[in-house]
Amino acid sequence: MARQVEVPPYEIEEHVTVDPDRTALVIIDMQNDFVRADGALSVPGAADTVAVIRQLVKLARSTAMPVFYSQDTHQEGDPEWKIWPKHCERGSEGWQIIDELKPAPGDRVFEKVRYDAFYGTHLDHELRLRGIDTLIICGTVASICVHYTAASAGLRWYRVIHPVDALSALHPFDMEAALRQASFLFQATLTKAAGITPAVASKRSGPAKRPARRG
Ligand code: ZN
Repeated sequence: MARQVEVPPYEIEEHVTVDPDRTALVIIDMQNDFVRADGALSVPGAADTVAVIRQLVKLARSTAMPVFYSQDTHQEGDPEWKIWPKHCERGSEGWQIIDELKPAPGDRVFEKVRYDAFYGTHLDHELRLRGIDTLIICGTVASICVHYTAASAGLRWYRVIHPVDALSALHPFDMEAALRQASFLFQATLTKAAGITPAVASKRSGPAKRPARRG
């Protein structure tokens, strides 16, 4: 039985400033099985976010912001395949991150076995090593792996930023539910990718890009 509810209002900020030295871009599960139309678990709209996510990668590169990828990874007998069709089998074509978002040398890729990219991985450790306290989280699926990773980050007191045009979901309801929960429950900042601006040039990007010395 279909039911209708009103989505409580949430803000989508026009401009969000981040400190590139303390911020990482986290790209969730942009793998062939989720993004391609013929993928095992194709997500409507995921392909439409590729160009936007590429813009975010460009922003990260230009400010020496670290880029982290999650890669959904399953093996024969994985209980998740009782919930979902068989997908992201380690080593398969569907498991690969899409060519358009191929990680560059220096990017970190985390194979994850469940929805939450922190679960069973070194993600938290590596973020803390780099002094990261803010995560720009994008990718797919908005209400599943993106959401559980963002929630897990929120529980650890990371500041979470969701560029909403860089997310995709299986159903519009799922997208609304995820955004409502993110903004309400762990106070994620919602914005659009083009609204994210680095506060200052990163110290990591070398002396030439450092802000002028004051005084
Ligand atoms: Zn999976």
